[in-house]
Amino acid sequence: MSTVQFDVFSGGSVTIDHDICTGCTTKACIPACQAPSLGSVLIAGPDGLPALSVTPEQAKKGACIECLACDLACRSRGAGGLTFRLPMPELDAILAGQSWPS
Ligand code: SF4
Ligand code: SF4
Repeated sequence: MSTVQFDVFSGGSVTIDHDICTGCTTKACIPACQAPSLGSVLIAGPDGLPALSVTPEQAKKGACIECLACDLACRSRGAGGLTFRLPMPELDAILAGQSWPS
């Protein structure tokens, strides 16, 4: 089964595992991304699984607005097939027990 993967402008990345999506009854990430004023870069592909409506290059240049709506939808109503990684060094430092950077 395939994987959808694209980078985003801030340096993060999105990975969607179709092995997991196949068993997802809601496909909640798709309408979440299609909400007004959001990126609308996730659509249903021919197989009904999430696909990109733009090229990966366009997504990286800002077509994906990094709103995290897809991530929230997948976590709350989906099957957990979407992983959104964002570089957050300040948060990593806090979680590691370090002080807030000045
Ligand atoms: S909500 Fe999550 S598990 Fe469901 S189709 Fe979207 S990415 Fe896949
Ligand atoms: S972060 Fe927002 S714009 Fe990017 S794919 Fe997810 S819902 Fe769509």
